[in-house]
Amino acid sequence: MKNEILFKLTYGMYAIGVKDDNKASACIVNTVTQVSNSPNMVAVSMSHRNYSNECIAKNGIFTVSVLSEDTSGAVIGALGFTSGRNTDKLANVRHKILAEGVPVVKENICCWFLCKVVSKAETPTHTIFIAEIIAGSDEARGAPMTYDYYHRVIKGKAPKNAPTYQEQKPEKDSNDGESWICTVCGYIYNDPDVSFESLPDDWVCPICGAPKSAFKRI
Ligand code: FE
Repeated sequence: MKNEILFKLTYGMYAIGVKDDNKASACIVNTVTQVSNSPNMVAVSMSHRNYSNECIAKNGIFTVSVLSEDTSGAVIGALGFTSGRNTDKLANVRHKILAEGVPVVKENICCWFLCKVVSKAETPTHTIFIAEIIAGSDEARGAPMTYDYYHRVIKGKAPKNAPTYQEQKPEKDSNDGESWICTVCGYIYNDPDVSFESLPDDWVCPICGAPKSAFKRI
């Protein structure tokens, strides 16, 4: 089977809020699934290499913020493409910290819920945390952002730690041979009307916020 067949599976886009000893952090996942309704339980798959995985394993608690189509790609960039181990990923993302110490993102999300881990399973690359929803929004707003919307409309890419990541060759540029790729997140710039060179020096990657210097010509 070709790996690309798996692209036909559908997903959403979620920010997972976690806490360490004395700080809150968050990451982006596309794999949150409801797995029980009495009580309400979800499963989340997270790379062994993710700092958030360590935090959840240690503290047994996390939040899920359901991103909407109105959530900026920059929020996904800030939370999805760097590690919270050494940086404050939430520095430029509006959020609130719950009494339990875990953050909820406040960037045009649909809704959120607080989850307590009850079980987990290991795969060779990822941990699947199974958790009970113990609190959350009373109402949902907006249209949830699907993984397809993220790829198709926001032009976002999957980071290497995503369970659904597949290595792909950069697409051939159909415009003028002038495509540039962000070496941080994989976003490809190939606007036929505005050359990469003519972008202002302070232009940044619309997905991850990396500077112009982080791009290389394909
Ligand atoms: Fe980028």
